Amino acid sequence: MRAKTPEGREIDLKQDTFDALKLRLRGPVFLPGDVGYEESRTVWNAMIDRKPAAVARCLGSADVIACVQFARDNDILLCIKAGGHNIAGLATADGALMLDLSLMRGVWADPQRQVAHAQGGCLLGDVDRETQVHGLAAVLGFVSLTGIAGLTLGGGFGYLTRRWGWTSDTVVGMSVVTGNGRLVRASSDENGDLFWGLRGGGGNFGVVTGIDYVLYPVGPEVVGGVVAWPASQAPKVLELYRALCEKAPPELTLVALMRPAPPAPWLPKDMHGQPIVALLACYSGRPEEGEKVVAPIKSLGSPIGDVLVRRPYAQMQSLLDATQPKGRRYYWKSEYLSRIEPALCEKVIKHAARIRSPHSAVILFQIEGALNRLEDAHSAVGNRDARYVLNVAGSWDKVEEDRANIDWAREAWDDMKSFSTGGTYINFLTADEGPERTEAAFGKGLRRLAEVKTKWDPQNVFRTNRNIKPI
Ligand SMILES: Cc1cc2nc3c(=O)[nH]c(=O)nc-3n(C[C@H](O)[C@H](O)[C@H](O)COP(=O)(O)OP(=O)(O)OC[C@H]3O[C@@H](n4cnc5c(N)ncnc54)[C@H](O)[C@@H]3O)c2cc1C
Repeated sequence: MRAKTPEGREIDLKQDTFDALKLRLRGPVFLPGDVGYEESRTVWNAMIDRKPAAVARCLGSADVIACVQFARDNDILLCIKAGGHNIAGLATADGALMLDLSLMRGVWADPQRQVAHAQGGCLLGDVDRETQVHGLAAVLGFVSLTGIAGLTLGGGFGYLTRRWGWTSDTVVGMSVVTGNGRLVRASSDENGDLFWGLRGGGGNFGVVTGIDYVLYPVGPEVVGGVVAWPASQAPKVLELYRALCEKAPPELTLVALMRPAPPAPWLPKDMHGQPIVALLACYSGRPEEGEKVVAPIKSLGSPIGDVLVRRPYAQMQSLLDATQPKGRRYYWKSEYLSRIEPALCEKVIKHAARIRSPHSAVILFQIEGALNRLEDAHSAVGNRDARYVLNVAGSWDKVEEDRANIDWAREAWDDMKSFSTGGTYINFLTADEGPERTEAAFGKGLRRLAEVKTKWDPQNVFRTNRNIKPI
């Protein structure tokens, strides 16, 4: 069977070799042709089409250890898949042994300590479901089907970020299988350098089998949802966005987006496919207060749809899921911004008008708040001067539409990148972005990250990521 070494050399392995792996694991091992192989090897972004030599669906840390040892003994490249949502397809690699963690989705929430322990294969929705039982929440992202591991290891932002920081900032411990097959604990008391690096270093140091998150009182009800207007109203709407963001209390997170209207039941049928501008808001404090805070959004002009209402927090967390299905083709360009300037708003409007697909969007996320106040030394997520994220999000259905949609995203980005802080988000980088973009994403911490890499993964066993080379 064809496989690849970590350096990319092709090798032949006998069927017996994989039979031996099967005997060592509690979870199943899939080879090409087996039922289950296709589901594991495919990721969210259909632009990525890679074929691992084998997939091991691990059932716990012991399986992960066995896989890491197996890969080292047989000189096979390793890749790790949690939620499979990385746009660059970093979860999968040709000829690799894939550690698919999708069966490791246990969550244990402790309301007394206000901490949740989540296994490394959890999706965001798994954690929200268990923590909301206690009226608590971890700081996670906007789409409930995303994996916690990739999100947390690269930073992570969502509706609670303005209050408590990057997702990584709110982690208090991790369980990690290192490149020599040892299970270690990383926290502020144990292996502090590894703990710092894991929170932002993007999976460079080991396989994270469990994450402990601090939980905060949130919900069960929040004020959240979307208000949409025809794109012709964009100058007024984006001006309101700019003004509201400047004085928004930390409980409020605002996202502005422009795109063709999706075929959503809350939007009039004759608007489906027509260009719109929308504001997505979530107020995670007391709903009575939230209703007052979002009132200016609801009373602006004549919206074509308004679903900004009291709703369960868990529902808010999955509101965008249907807009981001697995299996479409995706290409993003992204930058951190320090402010929303009127000149940028003009460009957002200009490039939204040139969108080439019914699914694409130009999005502005507000993240400013707690993450700006923490020290660089707190965790390895760089770019603590980032206050907004610009995402030019191309999304379409057919291979033959690749060129037009990628060109649109690149042109829009090219025209707007001058507004950037110079930094970018590691978790939004596409496959074609080079080392200079990785550096822009890791920011000031890169040298220290390389030292942590040298200590914890000197052989660079974990390289199917935004790779940090050992020194
Ligand atoms: C629809 C969508 C919505 C998103 N929304 C947000 C958002 O709101 N906020 C935000 O911050 N980001 C968001 N992202 C970006 C997201 O954080 C990244 O795509 C992230 O990589 C996804 O994590 P995953 O576990 O699904 O990744 P995967 O594709 O499974 O893995 C990504 C990388 O992490 C490594 N990795 C995965 N699991 C482990 C592990 N257990 N141990 C070590 N390394 C591991 C892999 O090797 C790979 O390099 C979104 C992405 C998508 C596609």
